[in-house]
This record gives sequence, C-alpha cells and structure tokens, in this order.
Amino acid sequence: MLPQIDIKSQIQMTQLQRIAIAPSQLQQEQILLTSQQQHYLGRVLRLRDRDRFIAMDGKGKWWLAQLEGEKAQIVESITVQTELPISITLMVALPKGNGFDDVVRCCTELGVTVIAPVVSDRTLLHPSPQKLERWLRIAQETAEQSERSFVPIILEPVSFITGLAIGTTTHRYICEARGSCPHLREAINQVSTTSEMIIATGPEGGWTEKELECAVDAGFQPVSLGRRILRAVTAPIVALSIVAAELESMEFNAAS
Ligand code: SAH
Repeated sequence: MLPQIDIKSQIQMTQLQRIAIAPSQLQQEQILLTSQQQHYLGRVLRLRDRDRFIAMDGKGKWWLAQLEGEKAQIVESITVQTELPISITLMVALPKGNGFDDVVRCCTELGVTVIAPVVSDRTLLHPSPQKLERWLRIAQETAEQSERSFVPIILEPVSFITGLAIGTTTHRYICEARGSCPHLREAINQVSTTSEMIIATGPEGGWTEKELECAVDAGFQPVSLGRRILRAVTAPIVALSIVAAELESMEFNAAS
C-alpha cells in the first residue's frame, strides 16, 4: 500500500513533471507509454521506477501516475481548476512573420479555448501547412507549463468571411482600432449569462470597411481595446487579458 500524501501539497512540494498522453494510452488504471514518452521520462527527466508524475489527456483530465517500466500505474485522478469559466474563441487575422507563434503561446497561457487563424483582405502572410503543426505543438507545450487542464484547439486557417460563421453564440466582438466603439470591458458586462464568446482581431493593416460590415451583419459588435493602436500580435493578447480579468474577478466575488 502506497503512503497517502495530500495531492495538493505533493504537487507543490515536489513540482511533479507533467506529460500529455492520448486518451487511447489509458487502459484499466494503466498508461501504456510510447517509446518517446519512456525516453522523456527516463532519460530527460531522469525518473526511475516508482517515481511519480502527472499525466494529462489535454481534455481536462489529470492523473497522478507512477512509473513502472514501459507503463505507468494511475495512483489517482486529480481535480484541477485552471480553466476560464466560459469558452473563448479568438479569431485572429494572421500577422506577418512568426508573430502568430507569440499569439498562440500567450493566449494559451491566458486561457483561450479555441484559436481560429483567419486570412483577411489585408493579411500579408499566407500560411504554409507546416505552420499548423508548429502552432499545435506550441499550444501543447504552453498548456503543460501553464498547468492548464485543456489544450486549446487551433483550427485550420480559413478566410475571414468563412470564419465569421464559426460558433453559435450571440456574444461576438470585433476589435476595431479606430472610431468610437465601446470598450470591450464594457461590452462584456453581461457575459455571465453566456457560456461562449468570440473575439476577432485584425491584421497589421486593420480590417477593411467591407470586412467590418460583414462582421456586423454576422452579429459581431465592434469594440475598442483602448486609445492606443496595438500591434496585430498584441491585440488578441490584450483582448483575452481583459476578458479573463473580468471573468475571474466575477468568479472570485461570487465565491467570497
Ligand atoms: N493599421 C491599423 C491598425 C491595425 S492594428 C490602423 O492604422 O488603423 C491590428 C488590429 O489590432 C486591428 O485590426 C484591431 O483588430 C486590433 N487593435 C489594435 N489596437 C486596437 C484598439 N485600440 N482597439 C481595438 N482594436 C485594436
């Protein structure tokens, strides 16, 4: 019988390593490790038999596991509470260069649920197929380091017009750098009544008039992120920070 230690203090004390597993690797309280995972746990992290680590399935489930050769034995499941209370989709016009890597990394840290890269009229970058794989890897690694229980979904890039049809929520916002739109923070005031929100941010050259019109026709409300013009990479990060702060402070107030 293994000694029972409070999981929370165990995680804090030993800073257990976390690895992502596919749900299919889990079989009757055991995790069948791939040779890559065995190498990572044994050679890179220098874990030995009976050492413990955390396995995450990327869909919200975590387990405390104990290494046993080519397998790991599940010790118990762990409840984690690191996700935002509602699903947030960021629709981001692809910035130039490798700027989207930063968007994926920072927005994963901040709790995004879905990232939908879109190609708009003024988008300068047309992504290569390898990019999606790279973004998925960044999302996975960042979710692990940020102790998220869910790895954000990154959709294949589509045209902005196709992207407008994503989701069914009425809480849809499009960030517009100029004009006198209400601030995003004001606009999301009633957000506790929804379970989903979509926020769109534009490319370096901004949205075209036509794109804004189409977005408004598709139910998007134009919003501001403040008085300064943010870079295309910064805008989605700021939008998500505002939403996360609002949602989590509401949650905190409700709990206390
Ligand atoms: N070159 C454009 C600005 C593009 S900024 C211009 O001069 O108007 C890139 C994108 O970030 C914008 O399309 C918008 O979605 C978002 N953004 C940047 N600053 C913003 C702000 N202050 N308020 C709302 N959205 C902003």
